Amino acid sequence: MGLTKKYEAIIGLEVHIQLQTRSKAFCGDSTLFGSTPNSQTSTISLAHPGTLPRPNKKQIEYAIILGLALNCEINQQSYFDRKHYFYADLPKGFQTTQNSQPICKGGEVTFETDQGLKTIRLHHIHMEEDAGKSLHEIDPTFTYIDLNRAGIPLLEMVTEPDFRTANEVYHFINELRRLVRYLDISDGNMEEGSLRCDCNISVRLQGQETLNARCEVKNINSARFARKAIEFEIGRQMGLMEDGHEIKQETREFNPDQGITTALRSKEDAHDYRYFPEPDILPLHISEGYITGVRNAMPSLPAFYRQLLINQYGLAPDDVEIIIDTQARVENFRMFLDRNEKIPPKLAANFFINKWFPSEEAEEISKGLDFKIIAQFLQLIEDKKITTSIAYQKIWPILIKQPQDVLELCQKLNLMQTSDTDTIESMAQQVLDENPRQLGQYINGKKGIITFFMGQLMKISEGKANPEIARETFEKLLGK
Ligand code: MN
Repeated sequence: MGLTKKYEAIIGLEVHIQLQTRSKAFCGDSTLFGSTPNSQTSTISLAHPGTLPRPNKKQIEYAIILGLALNCEINQQSYFDRKHYFYADLPKGFQTTQNSQPICKGGEVTFETDQGLKTIRLHHIHMEEDAGKSLHEIDPTFTYIDLNRAGIPLLEMVTEPDFRTANEVYHFINELRRLVRYLDISDGNMEEGSLRCDCNISVRLQGQETLNARCEVKNINSARFARKAIEFEIGRQMGLMEDGHEIKQETREFNPDQGITTALRSKEDAHDYRYFPEPDILPLHISEGYITGVRNAMPSLPAFYRQLLINQYGLAPDDVEIIIDTQARVENFRMFLDRNEKIPPKLAANFFINKWFPSEEAEEISKGLDFKIIAQFLQLIEDKKITTSIAYQKIWPILIKQPQDVLELCQKLNLMQTSDTDTIESMAQQVLDENPRQLGQYINGKKGIITFFMGQLMKISEGKANPEIARETFEKLLGK
């Protein structure tokens, strides 16, 4: 029996989402990324004695937006806690976070995977602040500290251990990144650390009810790395169990160059962070009216568009995922279909996915190219006035650079599709006359050779022959 059939992995995540507020969580310092080290550090970021923090309205609003988007229960009475630990880049000696009363409880995330839709439950989402940055590589003997990041507002999302494969985690992180961008609460840039992920992984025998010890892989900043780290970790733990070893609970880190995880420290079960309510910030009371106001201002979500494109337009899930990747894409696509009801959604989807999005991303599209011209272009394909291959290979490259009337262009370049049966029949006859060997093969039962004849005919017609009529003509001539 294969190991993956014998064992099952149990995976839960803690994701830190950096919010795109202009100021920090508890003071007015700027949150701009990449500024001169320690230039965004007032006395509050530096934790001078006697300074008082003030909560950031935007952080609270963003927490509620995310909570509503994921069907969480919004906790109308919540407060901040102090979480104590000692570290050089944490000047206060504690992190201001939420512990016993987080702002959002429960909720769920549904996302597309290779095996269809998957839903995982959330335990909660809480508000907190980031620590500063320790820079170990600048000097061989000293560590440098940059406190620009200290106090930047974060949301921490804690999932239930509902993931079973590394791939599910990969798709989940991509969905989450997409969601925070739709909601406009975070830039979702993983390279800049705007989404960071801790993965808790344990492995047990299929059918086993209890959980084995888990390992936590810290601070992963890419969906691909998360998938790799988890795959490695599942393999490592299965290997140990096969050899009769016990898994030790520990914190590990992922090395992207080697694709492996290594032990950082063994973990005693409960850290003593000496949590207690933050005495310098009043508890938060969030009114029903405020929540309703936030709810009414929410944009449409990826899940809404996913349903719409599949159910109303009948598109394939793989295509839909590409179209809903950004709100701009899906909104443009919808607007196009609304204005051009005669163009089949599938034809439009193919065009947008294969031509429009890539060209737009590469900034190849000339400013004058508008949806009226695109509609004319697709309508000519739909009406079989031009073939798809001519449209994409010859006409589209011209339109990108020089937007113009598509019909006139096709006529000028003599690219209109030929549906004239007499012309096609004479070309088909020519193909058969010129290829007696293949004709013989066809007569001897090799019916697939008709594809060859079609290819030859397309060559003679320079791609302009209507393929359906051409095929019918061959079938007629060959006496199907
Ligand atoms: Mn945290």
